[in-house]
Amino acid sequence: MKMETKSKDLLRKDEKYIWHAMRRYNPEATMVIQKADGAWIEDNNGKRYLDAMAGLWCVNAGYGREELAEAAYEQLKTLPYFPLTQSHIPAIELGEKLNEWLGGDYVFFFSNSGSEANETAFKIARQYHQQNGEPERHKFISRYRAYHGNSMGALAATGQAQRKYRYEPLAQGFLHVTPPDMYRSPYQGTIEEQSLACADEIDRVMTWELDKTIAAVIMEPIITGGGVIMPHESYLPRVREICDKHGALLIVDEVICGFGRTGERFGFQHYGVKPDIVTMAKGITSAYLPLSVTAVRREIYEMFQGSEDYNHLRHVNTFGGNPAACAVALKNIEIFERENLVERSQVMGEKLLDKMEDLKNHPYVGNIRGKGLLMGIEMVENKQTKEPASQDKVDKIISLCKEQGLIISKNGDTVAGYNNIITLSPPLTISDEELDFIVSTIKKAFVKL
Ligand code: PMP
Repeated sequence: MKMETKSKDLLRKDEKYIWHAMRRYNPEATMVIQKADGAWIEDNNGKRYLDAMAGLWCVNAGYGREELAEAAYEQLKTLPYFPLTQSHIPAIELGEKLNEWLGGDYVFFFSNSGSEANETAFKIARQYHQQNGEPERHKFISRYRAYHGNSMGALAATGQAQRKYRYEPLAQGFLHVTPPDMYRSPYQGTIEEQSLACADEIDRVMTWELDKTIAAVIMEPIITGGGVIMPHESYLPRVREICDKHGALLIVDEVICGFGRTGERFGFQHYGVKPDIVTMAKGITSAYLPLSVTAVRREIYEMFQGSEDYNHLRHVNTFGGNPAACAVALKNIEIFERENLVERSQVMGEKLLDKMEDLKNHPYVGNIRGKGLLMGIEMVENKQTKEPASQDKVDKIISLCKEQGLIISKNGDTVAGYNNIITLSPPLTISDEELDFIVSTIKKAFVKL
């Protein structure tokens, strides 16, 4: 069959059978991706693109890793499945490895997606407080603009109204505070003072809500999907202090920030805090297979081990911790260590920030920020008023880049009209040449704006 006919046929079937995420059907926008290698994806017409989003911020070790495919294959032959009501070797080994990466002393509950990892964290937090003699602690605090998942609890924690309002009422007991967006802060003062003012909102909410009703705070070290929102480094330590003061747990969502994305193994490790619960997904397997983890501090876990049988965690999922997914995660981490991908993310991230520096002079660029290989380019209509750039302008940059073979994305707060932040999150393996390609393609697109 001729390439063009084959392509049309695929798109016709795609329209018939595939319900795409986050958009209505649009054949113009649909790429049928057939294969991928390194940072490059290739569609069914043979056109190649550098995927500077690593899929959905997740293919951290890059595409085309035969070792990962082999790890899955070998494990599937030996033991394709067994539930973690019992145990299996890949899960045990992965738990030990993750504990080392976290700096101990954690116990691991496995699921399949970031949303589930967060749901699990919420259930653990509530039950922990009940069994610790504080049954009224049931509320969670998170930030506006953050994304924590698609299920009724994780979506309740999410602070993006556009993703939520069609499905409300969601799970109860979720409260939100101002995100530490240092480009659009409602506070005055230095970056540090403004960041701390945002953290102190959590302190006030806990007091006003009655702190004995607060179960936990959930936050990413850097808000990713809401537009790469980076507070001053004193923010997370202050949040830790506030949680301790009020007896609430701190859940850190490392679904995107984990596994080297920000230039540390986990994002929170930049800030010297110890979370009570850490959730992870995406980069744990570099997305080769679905896997997520809720890492829980041992003291919390111990509260579920009492002699009363009804005190155990009443939570199970069929597929969580699939042996092949765990084997892939172990091999993925081995690759990270062998190729120093965490350090690489930090080094390449600094180069990326450096190379983007002069783009700050562009009239439609309000702010560029990033840590490791995570970057946000905030587009504005006017640098003085900071009016967010029109969707047309943002979309034009994205489509000009796509024409030139570069995949980037946009994020922000759609309610406030802030879906104006171009985001980058390439595989941590990108080379200097690939980095240059990303930078020059984006700059050329801005010249044409
Ligand atoms: N937390 C964060 C920070 C995320 O970015 C995401 C997904 N983008 C999730 C949770 C949910 O993960 P999943 O899509 O695997 O359910």
